[in-house]
Amino acid sequence: MTTSSPGTTGTPLESATRALNAWIELELDALDNNAHVLRETAGDATVMAVVKANAYGHGADVVGPALEAAGIERFAVVFLPEAVALREAGVTRPVLVLGHSFAEDAETAVAHDITLTVDGEEQAAAVADAALRAGKAPVPVHVKVDSGMHRFGLAPDEVAALADRVRTLEGVTLEALWTHLANADHEDDSFTIEQDRVVAEAVRLAGPVPMRHIANTATTIRHPEFRYDAVRTGLGLYGALPDHTPNPGLQRVLSMKARLARVFDVSPGEGVSYGLTWVAERQSRVALVPIGYADGYHRALSNRGHVLAGGRRCPIVGRICMDQFLIDVTGVPGVSEGDEAVLIGEQGGETITAAEVAGHIDTINYEVLAGLNRRLPRLGHRKGIVEATC
Ligand SMILES: *Cc1c(COP(=O)(O)O)cnc(C)c1O
Repeated sequence: MTTSSPGTTGTPLESATRALNAWIELELDALDNNAHVLRETAGDATVMAVVKANAYGHGADVVGPALEAAGIERFAVVFLPEAVALREAGVTRPVLVLGHSFAEDAETAVAHDITLTVDGEEQAAAVADAALRAGKAPVPVHVKVDSGMHRFGLAPDEVAALADRVRTLEGVTLEALWTHLANADHEDDSFTIEQDRVVAEAVRLAGPVPMRHIANTATTIRHPEFRYDAVRTGLGLYGALPDHTPNPGLQRVLSMKARLARVFDVSPGEGVSYGLTWVAERQSRVALVPIGYADGYHRALSNRGHVLAGGRRCPIVGRICMDQFLIDVTGVPGVSEGDEAVLIGEQGGETITAAEVAGHIDTINYEVLAGLNRRLPRLGHRKGIVEATC
């Protein structure tokens, strides 16, 4: 994995994408803006950028180093290999693994200065041993409190027992207790308040720790009292928002584009794509978009939603295939083969957001973004000059 390919960086975006069927553009100025806005919003808390799932589909190899350059202090991912990939992409600041890992992961984590969330004594001891062997002791570990979401984590009494055990180990220090909120994007905050209370109880039982972190994007923006020592912001960095969350000035980073591969006429009664599920009722003009469900553009979007072409919203017609689908461009002037189509992003003053796409298929913007496949090249640019690709 590389953060730049010499043939592309420094090139204007138009020439870099001229011979691409489909791609993702990342506006690095918008990413910088979002990092600064969330930094301001977080006040005294450290901002931990959540770049799991390939930076929510944006491309972690581009996003990680760009966020570090923008001053982000810490990073978080869910699985160890994601953390190792961040290091390989050049990220040097602390990286936390939020999800489950194994005692067997200790050596790799320590070798790459990656902080694990430990959930058991055997694992804590393995990290301590690896740290001592590597001459890096003591290394920090975090412990997750299950404060009521009942997913990963330990109950407060188990947290206290693990904290006691960790304090006996020479090779590790307990840097933080943290939790994840189940209803941060709900209008009703009562369960968030309850979860905060459970974490406070865990802290009381476990004794003082240097850090506590519970806030995701929604909580960071909505609840200053829950920012504590660090906030873990994901979605907001990408300029998208959870439900019931006001926008403090975040801007969309990602655009998903394709180059129309064929523009042609279909006559009344003729169908298109698998199953011929759309049949022209009138003389129609359709255009072929070379992206499909293998790219993360869900098959459930068949005959639903729009793509921007010729500066207009053009309806999706027929089934989304693995690699391509059609849009109806009847009556849209001047649409021709080779034109750019916008699946997420802006064209001619019209905008399609990930949230709009999600709305057609009964899901959330998180899933639309995180599901974008690695087949699509990512081009990070500033004002149209390509700076990094992956
Ligand atoms: C994904 C994730 C986050 C980030 O949530 P956003 O709503 O995207 O800000 C924070 N913490 C944990 C544990 C996560 O898994």
